[in-house]
Amino acid sequence: MLDTRHDVSPHHSHAQDHRVPVVLISGDGIGPEVADAATSVLSATFKGFEWIEAEAGAALMERGVASGVPKATLDEIERTGLVLKGPLATPIGHGGKSANVTLRKLYELYGNVRPIKPMPGLGGPFADRDINFVVVRENVEDLYAGIEHMQTPDVAQCLKLITRKGSEKIARLAFALARAEHRTSLCAVTKANIMKLTEGLFKDVVETTAREFPELDLDHMLVDNCAQQMVMRPEQFEVIVTTNMNGDILSDLGAGLIGGLGLTPSANVGDDVAIFEAVHGSAPDIAGRNVANPTALIRSGIMMLRHIGEGGAAQRLERALEDVYRAGTALTPDVAYDGIGVSTDAFRDAVLEAL
Ligand code: NAD
Repeated sequence: MLDTRHDVSPHHSHAQDHRVPVVLISGDGIGPEVADAATSVLSATFKGFEWIEAEAGAALMERGVASGVPKATLDEIERTGLVLKGPLATPIGHGGKSANVTLRKLYELYGNVRPIKPMPGLGGPFADRDINFVVVRENVEDLYAGIEHMQTPDVAQCLKLITRKGSEKIARLAFALARAEHRTSLCAVTKANIMKLTEGLFKDVVETTAREFPELDLDHMLVDNCAQQMVMRPEQFEVIVTTNMNGDILSDLGAGLIGGLGLTPSANVGDDVAIFEAVHGSAPDIAGRNVANPTALIRSGIMMLRHIGEGGAAQRLERALEDVYRAGTALTPDVAYDGIGVSTDAFRDAVLEAL
């Protein structure tokens, strides 16, 4: 079970023990740089990781693999069920879909989980606020299901698909996560006042599912109100459960609250496969310069540690990361107080030192 903040392990939790094979897709652009830093600190924290390097992304598409994900990579993902993934660029003019969409659809990664929690010591307008919530976003339905066509040359239509089954799965995931993390409340976020059938169905299903979790309070908020509440009073939220497009926008708003893309991790969760990745893309503007911030991918790795039951290891790495931020002397340029910062490698070494 995913748990983004506690260290209650369903298994025993002695770092060095069991072997855990993980498919490592370094990805495009800054991917290899942040993946190197993330795997270094993750391996130093938990000795059992066995990284299985696999290819996907832009280079594959250019070599004629239309989906961007070759069969060898899919085979390894099916074998292990666990992926740590760098960003994959979607080159314009090669193939139709992005490799990210291919993976999400193929393995029915129906849940996108994004914890929104700042790092200590960082400035910004929300620095002194108590922000610590998780956005649980439905990840395969809604307007993003890809059912879109031209009705006439002048009229385009995109269908919004919401199913009871899909809504139940994401609602259960959100409530179970809230329970595992000992949270007290969830907020369902919809636009059910306007899209009464689709968003209304989602709202109904979340309310029905709530009966299975009587210890958790359920609130409902319309998405437009939620956007302003997140800015005005972000500390009120614990877990937000919402449809695909609402969640896409609200989770980026959340990323903005805590200091941006370099910091924000995510998990894409299905029944058989979980893919952990930073929220950011391949950042071609800074690729190859050893300045990218690997924090988001490291935090994604911390989510993966909790997912495999290594809560103690997750906590150690989280503390080391927080110590480096609190000290503030070895941060990458995107978050450095002096605006100059240190290299990706130097940041990695500071985290290794703090472990
Ligand atoms: P981006 O996230 O790559 O970059 C946006 C801005 O944020 C850039 O200025 C970049 O330098 C900065 N940035 C991002 N991550 C950073 C980090 N770790 N450290 C420091 N700065 C960081 O978004 P984009 O430029 O819109 O997209 C570039 C490519 O990435 C596109 O091909 C897009 O399709 C792809 N993409 C992939 C994923 C994914 O694989 N999950 C997600 C988003 C975008």
